[in-house]
Amino acid sequence: MNQQHTTAVGETPGREPLSFLNPSAPEPWASFIEQIDRVAPHLGNLAGWLETLKHPKRILIVDVPVHRDDGSVAHYEGYRVQHNLSRGPGKGGVRFHPAVTLNEVMALSGWMTIKNAALNLPYGGAKGGIRLDPRTHSRGELQRITRRYTSEIGFIIGPDKDIPAPDVGTNEQTMAWMMDTYSMNIGSTATGVVTGKPISLGGSLGRHEATGRGVFIAAREAGQRSNVPIVGARVVIQGFGNVGGIAARMFHDAGAKVIAVQDHSATIANEAGIDIPAALAHAQAHGGLKDFPGATDISVSDFWSLPSDYLIPAALEGQILPERARTLKTRIVVEGANGPTTPAADDILRERGILVVPDVLANAGGVTVSYFEWVQDFSNFFWSEEEINSRLERIMVGAFEAIWKLAEERQVSLRTATFIIACQRVLAAREQRGLYP
Ligand code: GLU
Repeated sequence: MNQQHTTAVGETPGREPLSFLNPSAPEPWASFIEQIDRVAPHLGNLAGWLETLKHPKRILIVDVPVHRDDGSVAHYEGYRVQHNLSRGPGKGGVRFHPAVTLNEVMALSGWMTIKNAALNLPYGGAKGGIRLDPRTHSRGELQRITRRYTSEIGFIIGPDKDIPAPDVGTNEQTMAWMMDTYSMNIGSTATGVVTGKPISLGGSLGRHEATGRGVFIAAREAGQRSNVPIVGARVVIQGFGNVGGIAARMFHDAGAKVIAVQDHSATIANEAGIDIPAALAHAQAHGGLKDFPGATDISVSDFWSLPSDYLIPAALEGQILPERARTLKTRIVVEGANGPTTPAADDILRERGILVVPDVLANAGGVTVSYFEWVQDFSNFFWSEEEINSRLERIMVGAFEAIWKLAEERQVSLRTATFIIACQRVLAAREQRGLYP
């Protein structure tokens, strides 16, 4: 255990701590198992293989010792979980956050298996993480931590084995260090070992915006089918980073009013609509939304009870529990984060007629463009941003249509429909491959 574990993100004296952490939320892996169980009645004979998804294929726990700038040595616990590799190499991000646990990384890896299969990307599911607060580390420390972690998991990752990417607390720079470390260790430059890299190192145009763009596409598709137009819509967004921030800009540009946003530093609202480009510039300059002049501070409970058309949880898991699900005043929840709604809360939202576009569909834009990046790295032929965005649009809309249709046919939630399609693909591959030996 390291000392960083006790540091709450964004805790400011005299203010409400906005760690996004919800101590009463169920463990994420329990939520994943429950979601898997709900699919069983819809899988016919393939249900016999469902147990496979309750057992991650491979779990690696590593110690990450590092020299801190003050000369001391600190130890961090890191993980890489390869949940399922039936359909291809592992794929999924690496999270740096003080609340990372093995249980969380297992759930996140399982959701990657479902997401990749639902979008028909030729990948299994994987995820990694280190329990630390990146905000309390210098750039040099983060570089050393990233390099040692990459070396420790180096024997199970690779362009055709398992391909990490950014997640909460990591970014293009983290991926550059991971790519370099892996490449130095094998003696040749392997750009395809990670995605979400800087453009200059084999990264893809459009990758940075892809998750937020995908969230917007999913919201738009849901809105069209539920008669909730984007133009003039009231939008509430939790999280203002790579997912929430980009989605906010896309809603804003499309004529919606983003009336409230919460990040690690503040919860703010403006009934007339927040000037999103100004808020993004403020967050960039000051490291968060705190003291943004174009809005007023509101309480966390007011944030969750504001009347809205779209609610976008784009921070961490375990945000919408039964209590909040009973009082939310929104029409469509679009999950930018992984696992923000627990299964019990899902049921309440469904009873209340609130549509939920699940994480495994709504935030799949990021890994979809990661797939494009990986293909471009293999072929050493790079596509235009237009080409990337139009392929992303096609894949997201195609997946949405198929999931919507199945949900109507079977009278199930969009989440269950997504899980049915994904489990059919994964378990058919599992069955066809057969058990070894
Ligand atoms: N971390 C992102 C996710 O949860 C992206 C993963 C990837 O690009 O591999 O989907």
